[in-house]
Amino acid sequence: MKDKIYKYASLIFLSVGLVLFFITFKITGHCPHNRGLIWTIFIVIQMVGFIISGFLIKQLYLQVNTDTLTGLRNRRYFYTKLPKLRIKDPVSLILMDIDNFKNTNDTYGHIVGDQVLQQFAEILQNNTRSNDIISRWGGEEFAIILPQTCAKEAFKIADRIRKVVEDYVFTYQDVKCRITVSVGIASMKEGADVNMEQFVRVADEALYKAKEKKNSIVTVVDN
Ligand code: GH3
Ligand code: MG
Ligand code: MG
Repeated sequence: MKDKIYKYASLIFLSVGLVLFFITFKITGHCPHNRGLIWTIFIVIQMVGFIISGFLIKQLYLQVNTDTLTGLRNRRYFYTKLPKLRIKDPVSLILMDIDNFKNTNDTYGHIVGDQVLQQFAEILQNNTRSNDIISRWGGEEFAIILPQTCAKEAFKIADRIRKVVEDYVFTYQDVKCRITVSVGIASMKEGADVNMEQFVRVADEALYKAKEKKNSIVTVVDN
């Protein structure tokens, strides 16, 4: 039933609007003295409808761009934001991949694994700034866009996260476990002539290098 409502949403809105209009039109025909008041009520009802629609659109927008497990932004949001970065300023991109996460799942089960991902997401939120864009890039991979941030500053943020994760005891019911994270950083100096696809590829390659050692950070700066 709900699926049908979404499918025919525009038609439903149009029909409700038309029905309301005709009802109002008929009523004003019977009560010509109160015409002004009746049309005002009609407009108020329309406005309430617009406000509700706006609220629902906002909810849908958030849902579409949010990762359901961690509450972070998702990969889709990441790719809509990336091309909009001001390359007049330096920009950094951090890609993170939890080390040996398959072992965590195999040892403690997927439910614990999910809890670890949620707590990891909280660590990211608590150790970044409000205008940094954190997203769940894929399964146990995360991306953080750092606007107006040079390589040195990005490294500081990434290293703080790496250390917090290393020291953190992830807890779910009576299970306690630890993880580490590998980090690749790509950084663009202001005005750098780098396209975003290449920017992501550079960060990914840096992450790949960091994975050789694990629990480490590799940074690549583009001019
Ligand atoms: P590496 O250090 O090389 O990154 O090893 P890894 O084990 O972390 O990497 P691998 O790609 O072998 O495994 C990733 C694991 O992440 C396997 C998959 O089950 C787990 N994973 C991905 N998404 C989720 C999720 O949403 N919940 C849980 N619990 N596990 C997930
Ligand atoms: Mg991975
Ligand atoms: Mg991994």
